Amino acid sequence: MEEFDLVINGSAHTTVDRFIVINPATGEPIGSAPNATLADLDTAVASAKRAFVDWAQKSDADLKEATLAVAAKIGEHAEELARLVTLEQGKPLNGLGSRWELGGAQAWAGYTAGLSLPVKVLQNDNAGRVELHRKPLGVVGSITPWNFPVMIAVWHMLPAIRTGNTVVVKPSPFTPLATLRLVQIINEILPPGVVNIVTGDDTKVNLGAAMSAHPDIRKIVFTGSCATGQKVMQSAAATMKRLTLELGGNDAGIVLADADPKAIAEGLFWGGFINNGQTCAAMKRLYVHDDIHDAVCQALVDYASKIPVGDGLAEGSVLGPIQNRMQFDKVKRLVEDAKTRGKVLLGGEAGEGLFFPPTIVAGLKNGDPLVDEEQFGPVLPVIRYSDIEEAIASANDSPNGLGGSIWSSDIEAARKLALRMQCGSVWINKHGAIQPNAPFGGVKSSGLGVEFGEEGLAEYTDIQTVFS
Ligand code: NAD
Repeated sequence: MEEFDLVINGSAHTTVDRFIVINPATGEPIGSAPNATLADLDTAVASAKRAFVDWAQKSDADLKEATLAVAAKIGEHAEELARLVTLEQGKPLNGLGSRWELGGAQAWAGYTAGLSLPVKVLQNDNAGRVELHRKPLGVVGSITPWNFPVMIAVWHMLPAIRTGNTVVVKPSPFTPLATLRLVQIINEILPPGVVNIVTGDDTKVNLGAAMSAHPDIRKIVFTGSCATGQKVMQSAAATMKRLTLELGGNDAGIVLADADPKAIAEGLFWGGFINNGQTCAAMKRLYVHDDIHDAVCQALVDYASKIPVGDGLAEGSVLGPIQNRMQFDKVKRLVEDAKTRGKVLLGGEAGEGLFFPPTIVAGLKNGDPLVDEEQFGPVLPVIRYSDIEEAIASANDSPNGLGGSIWSSDIEAARKLALRMQCGSVWINKHGAIQPNAPFGGVKSSGLGVEFGEEGLAEYTDIQTVFS
């Protein structure tokens, strides 16, 4: 059994109460996590606030070195952390699974270390000198979801500490273990209080809600659902917190008539089914031109039917179970409804426990629940279109705007169409391929602000302009 304590002010912090963590592949308990109280949260925030006094004064070179050291630590412990992610999240060790997640976490940490926000001289003439400085905010509260527990925690924490802030991180109640261990490891090299962690099961106490309203937290970086993101924004108003909100998506892919169905099938599949579809910027609706609709469906089915689904700890598994019962029930409900409206081309029947096979459904349209709602699971609806204007309008007809993609052999034509998609990122002949040097964020209801790159780093700072 995996048992970890909270880490506050660099030390283990025990709680009276704990909660059980379940392996979604087996339904068996794999460990337990601390059920923190509001007093524990206050202790963690106070520790981060104290640590901020010295940490904010560190030189840029020192902050860079510390961030690089964290990246190296993640690398040293990658296999141990990957195993924890597989146990609690369900994703396989292999494929685009937990080892890949840990590789990404280390790469992101390393890249973030190399970023910086030097002083900008806006004016320097006889009339005077004007400098723009980027200053750390204070305590950053990080609230993470259950789909990529380690990678998203790294996306939140590393830019925070790189810019001289301190952190209290709160993982999802479904996946607290790998993050608890990650914070333990990080604390072997960072000064006490720079990174603290609280976990809870969201039953008696909602730590995320308390963090969003906490007077000593200066910023919340939140990744999760649109509904919870809106609550964070409301609670944060009274203390005027800085916010980065990475929320849900309902990304559309559009396949043009000139695409080669066999050549794009693999990319389409992984665009939609990465992490079993439990990915914010996965493709969740696919619009395909009438001329090649049947050929694309066939190529997708051929590729998807060969994917091994099983317990993530088995080296041969490429996809695992759905992470939790609530998400499983949502996927099942949407698929059952879709059966009455369209045609299931592959999958469609729930397996044992939380397993659900890759499922492809054709014959749907905007207005059908599987098209309009974010399924966040291993199901892709394919929608036939004949006019590109109609496809663009249907793709944009969503309150969400995280990602989108265009699939075509004419890259220039695809680039022009990309600019008409109402979303924060658009890919051509791929989907969801985020990278640490490119700002990533949602438009419309998919969020506020961006992560990654200099623009993402800047969100962990306030501007101070000095006039002399
Ligand atoms: P969720 O919103 O249910 O939970 C996210 C986190 O918020 C958890 O840690 C939870 O404990 C916490 N929380 C619960 N109530 C809260 C409150 N009132 N105030 C503050 N925090 C609170 O989301 P989830 O089910 O864990 O994740 C799935 C969702 O996340 C999907 O909609 C998905 O699209 C989205 N997501 C978005 C991105 C992105 O970058 N845009 C990435 C991953 C997931």
